[in-house]
Amino acid sequence: MKLGQSGLYIDGESPKHERCLLGIYYSQTPQKHKDSVTSSFEGLSGNVRVVCASTSLSMGVDFKHVQYVVHYGPSKNLTSHLQEAGRAGRDGREAFHIKVYQGRHLVTCEPDVKAAVRKSPTSCCRIAFLESFDDKVCSILPLHSCCNVCHKKCKCAGSDCFIPIPIFDCERAPSTVDLEKSRTVSEDEILCLKDFLYEVKSSLSSESKVRMFDTTGVVGHGLSNALIETVVSNA
Ligand SMILES: [Zn+2]
Ligand SMILES: [Zn+2]
Repeated sequence: MKLGQSGLYIDGESPKHERCLLGIYYSQTPQKHKDSVTSSFEGLSGNVRVVCASTSLSMGVDFKHVQYVVHYGPSKNLTSHLQEAGRAGRDGREAFHIKVYQGRHLVTCEPDVKAAVRKSPTSCCRIAFLESFDDKVCSILPLHSCCNVCHKKCKCAGSDCFIPIPIFDCERAPSTVDLEKSRTVSEDEILCLKDFLYEVKSSLSSESKVRMFDTTGVVGHGLSNALIETVVSNA
């Protein structure tokens, strides 16, 4: 969104599929699109820069030039973690593995992942995630090349580190972007919002595929009266 049209297609021109910088790859993606993502990733001349993918991407294929793997939720177990994170940096260049998760993501993870995640906010992530495969594993030097925890301890420039903390690892202060996204909401608008949410709620039939437990353990579509009231009171 920030880049606008130029963020979607090469030079922002001719919005044709083969010039698109973004790709998607999961089991239901049409084979034609899957092929264009893989062929783009296989060579240096490919156009695709970012792919939203399930773990099936690069299964059995070696993409050499991947620089970032971003996981939405940790892997199921440590072996999967090793395989999935290891899809970046196969050309030997520096690469990043970024995990974005909330507590609920851990529910489906095996105990080894939960234990590693619990350790990693305070001690070396590399050690936490690799020690069960290699008991001699240690942090990489200089520390800024190791993990986010080690980077914050790096004193390669004397009392500080030469390499700034990557933007994705900085604690986010309320930014101007957030301010741009907020505005004052009138009483009328709040009532409108409330009516609308109740309308959405009644439109979600019991046949809805979206299912979740509410706090009382009742299975439903999740849009409860209490949730609507919370949303409205925070508007
Ligand atoms: Zn480390
Ligand atoms: Zn450093």
